[in-house]
Amino acid sequence: MIDQSNNAVVVGGGIAGLFAGLLLARAGRHVVHLVERDTRLGGLLRSTRYRSRLSYDTGIHYAVETGNPKIDSVLFQGMNEDKWHVFKTSLPKGNVFGGRLNSSSDCIDARVLDPHLYARGLVEILDGQEAEDDVLHLAEALEAEYGSTYTEHIFRPVMRKLAGRALEQLAPAAHESFGISRLIVVPSRAAKRLKRLPEYDKRIAYTKTREGPSPIQKFYPHDGGIGVWPEMLAGRLADAGARMHAATTIDAVDTDSGRITGVTLSDGQRLPCDLLVWTIPLPLLTRTLGTGVPGTAPAFRHVLLLHYLFKSKGVTPNLHWVSIYDEDAVSYRVTLYDNIAPGNDSDGSRVTVETLWSEHPKDIEEISERVRGELGDLGLVDDVRSGEFMGHEWIANAFPLRLAGQQTQARTPNAIDGLTNLVAAGRGAGTTFSQPEILEAVLTGVERQIAD
Ligand SMILES: Cc1cc2nc3c(=O)[nH]c(=O)nc-3n(C[C@H](O)[C@H](O)[C@H](O)COP(=O)(O)OP(=O)(O)OC[C@H]3O[C@@H](n4cnc5c(N)ncnc54)[C@H](O)[C@@H]3O)c2cc1C
Repeated sequence: MIDQSNNAVVVGGGIAGLFAGLLLARAGRHVVHLVERDTRLGGLLRSTRYRSRLSYDTGIHYAVETGNPKIDSVLFQGMNEDKWHVFKTSLPKGNVFGGRLNSSSDCIDARVLDPHLYARGLVEILDGQEAEDDVLHLAEALEAEYGSTYTEHIFRPVMRKLAGRALEQLAPAAHESFGISRLIVVPSRAAKRLKRLPEYDKRIAYTKTREGPSPIQKFYPHDGGIGVWPEMLAGRLADAGARMHAATTIDAVDTDSGRITGVTLSDGQRLPCDLLVWTIPLPLLTRTLGTGVPGTAPAFRHVLLLHYLFKSKGVTPNLHWVSIYDEDAVSYRVTLYDNIAPGNDSDGSRVTVETLWSEHPKDIEEISERVRGELGDLGLVDDVRSGEFMGHEWIANAFPLRLAGQQTQARTPNAIDGLTNLVAAGRGAGTTFSQPEILEAVLTGVERQIAD
């Protein structure tokens, strides 16, 4: 039987916190308490419903297996085709660069550049080499690997749009956070041959996504948006006996001789604590401990999400999402839900557009009109005038930026380094961002504690 005072407190009910809670519940050594500030669990995996049946997602849109059975067996149990769309290969995605929609790949195609620039850049990328470890910033790293032509005519404008910064202000691998490390530079057969060599594989993309398919399974619910997934995991966690503390935060953390001994919740409840899993920003822990936050503040891009319903069914067929890399467009990632999970025909087509910001924009109506125009101009929606703006969401501190001179945003301050019963993982820990990386970090941290 579990000692009822043997509490594991998990802070944050996003996928990191839910996974940590399920691992701990399965190990059976602790009473698990999940503390979530919001009234709903899921974090960036939440969905919002308009008119009771039209769902729009907040961040990531899919439940994506990791390939690690220790993770997948916990998170993807019982997700069959009765209730889920199961995608067994790479998802259909496109991109816009140089004003052209590429419906076969989300990688930027250098062949749309002016022919002289394209040819010069091709010679340079084939002659490129891995950047030295001591390069100072992204411009230097890209010039070594891709050559100066593609650095100036592709990466510079694209990163200005995505990161809102010059290449010289960004860390050598900052572009990877936005998934733009490979370029299409040659036709299919040549790309396949070049990609057999690891040094080219890292920089050169397949001409079409389907030429290098991923066997990792992805899931999307028939109904209700991706938020159904964390709701299902939360239900399983509650069934395993976990105590859920919604609309609650942590007011105080007590420590003694390098161990966390208790936490006080914002509703005044004090819990003895044998293990603390912290998945929200680490500076909040140091502030709670009263130890201050050393170092410079991390930099972020914020996201404004715009949700639309278009009466015409004329969204670009088949594509799940399109990344818009052109700097003069405010739209970034466009999600075409009806190509992922066809809805009720009479409703029309649901579309979400992500836009990226360094500060909160003033006039959201104006941005929503501009984005609507771009969807028409880029040929993603037939009849943009038939569209209705359903609403917006603001995600502050959405994308962490890796800045030059600050190779990683990890800033585990000394005061918490020494706490032996703390697991810091998830987006808030600052060391991982994509879902697979986050889940691996949670698994490693929790397994180490369970083994102790
Ligand atoms: C717009 C966007 C799109 C993304 N798309 C992808 C993608 O396509 N693929 C991919 O792999 N990754 C993507 N990501 C990355 C994303 O970081 C991870 O996929 C993952 O969802 C993060 O999970 P998490 O649990 O670490 O954080 P979150 O989902 O942010 O969850 C943190 C939770 O903690 C709660 N919380 C915050 N403060 C407190 C507090 N003081 N007390 C208690 N609770 C608190 C929050 O309410 C939230 O529920 C995207 C991120 C963004 C911003």
